[in-house]
Amino acid sequence: MRDRYQQLVSSAPGRFVARRVGLPEPPTLRRHQAGDPVAAGPVVLGPTPAVVDVPGTPVPGTPVAGASVGGGAGGRLVKVIRPMLTAAGVVVREPRAEARPNDPRPHALVFDATGLTRSDQLHALFDFFGPQVRSIAPGGRIVVLGTPPEECADSREATAQRALEGFTRSAGKEIKRGVTTQLVYVSRGAEDGVESTLRFVLSGRSAYVSGQVIRVGASAGSRPDDWQRPLAGKIAVVTGAARGIGEAIVDVLARDGAHVVCVDVPSAGSSLAEVAGRANGSTLTLDVTAEDAGRTLAEHLPDGVDVFVHNAGVTRDRTLGRMDAARWDLVLDVNLSSEERINDVLLDGGLLRAGGRIVATSSMAGIAGNPGQTNYATSKAGVIGMVQSLAPVLAARGGTINAVAPGFIETQMTAAIPLVIREAGRRMNSMTQGGLPVDVAETIAWFAAPASAGLNGNVVRVCGQSLLGA
Ligand code: NAD
Repeated sequence: MRDRYQQLVSSAPGRFVARRVGLPEPPTLRRHQAGDPVAAGPVVLGPTPAVVDVPGTPVPGTPVAGASVGGGAGGRLVKVIRPMLTAAGVVVREPRAEARPNDPRPHALVFDATGLTRSDQLHALFDFFGPQVRSIAPGGRIVVLGTPPEECADSREATAQRALEGFTRSAGKEIKRGVTTQLVYVSRGAEDGVESTLRFVLSGRSAYVSGQVIRVGASAGSRPDDWQRPLAGKIAVVTGAARGIGEAIVDVLARDGAHVVCVDVPSAGSSLAEVAGRANGSTLTLDVTAEDAGRTLAEHLPDGVDVFVHNAGVTRDRTLGRMDAARWDLVLDVNLSSEERINDVLLDGGLLRAGGRIVATSSMAGIAGNPGQTNYATSKAGVIGMVQSLAPVLAARGGTINAVAPGFIETQMTAAIPLVIREAGRRMNSMTQGGLPVDVAETIAWFAAPASAGLNGNVVRVCGQSLLGA
């Protein structure tokens, strides 16, 4: 789906005018379609296993040294990832000093930076990405893998690893054409658990996720028998399922094999039934703010639930001086307090099955703030606090809790924003366009997958790398 401006600048006269006056030209994002491979082309993986630590000009067409520059040891991930990618059908290529004739453009450049223990070794990033970055295909991927700074052996290593964040965020802002960049910090001992994240960040499922720092911790996840249906046999609940992002979450979780219980307010009953019918799911009309919402959910789910998605949300915008208590209270109750009450039933009441997943919907507003949205931003920042504080509780039960923070997503909620603010919201990101509900849904499905057990307490923005909020 393209917005009207995108349609205009993708026509020949529109493109001509846009280029002349320097207007943005939003790229067409390649989103995942059924049957798509994990990567749309070869993936260049570095550093090479045989690290050559000698200065000098590499012979054209031969592997470049990668992390060898500055004396850094090879990373601990590259040898784990290579067979993972190959098994996923990805063509893995060595980094080359110069492109060979007829070389297909790489879809992704993946660099294992876990071997960088001193700041002077960061030169390896320049060596690896510099010669290759311009050849990356439109809609390609840049992925840097690191060690969480807080787990590093000393200050020097923590400094080098923390520096990776500036590199990936800047690369994302610099390289256009729908290329995304991510930094994935992988805890020691969590090497085997990185597969679901690699598959997500390389594929079209993450088309509108860029500039993110993702943390994969050590946890015993299970690889699915079928990566196309990782949620087969699971029960998922999605609140606010009747339309917008919730509707897309239902579609994607059902596609991944889950039986989805679709929850929304009674007044949304007919569209809720339509959404659930299409997904072979079931409906539960329920106002999540009702005092007995938790009990109703428990009665409706005698076998418990594997995946609970807190998606229902409302806005009632007013500047603080004009805000009435009803607007404040409603937004806080729907977007935050009701989720806490339901979590009590999921956790203390035992409704969430062993290894269960909770995914909550925050917002860019909860990270960056937004004029006219003190109530909304308070609730959505609270969601982040809820996720981060409950992560250890979930971990103790073998489960996880994570949040997505959407930026500008094309839904009825954002269609109600005044035109000029709406247009600014759409363009102020590295993709120069709004995201689609499916972009948020794919990110939630990644968190929900059994193989994502190492993702806990993450807040991942689905915002096309919005300029707001870092
Ligand atoms: P939407 O308004 O299109 O849909 C929200 C759904 O939640 C509706 O079906 C509504 O009936 C339901 N709902 C509202 N109150 C409820 C209640 N008390 N009980 C049960 N259901 C209730 O919104 P959307 O754009 O699809 O947003 C979905 C979520 O994503 C929300 O939490 C929103 O805050 C968040 N979000 C959206 C955007 C965006 O750009 N659209 C950006 C950031 C965050």
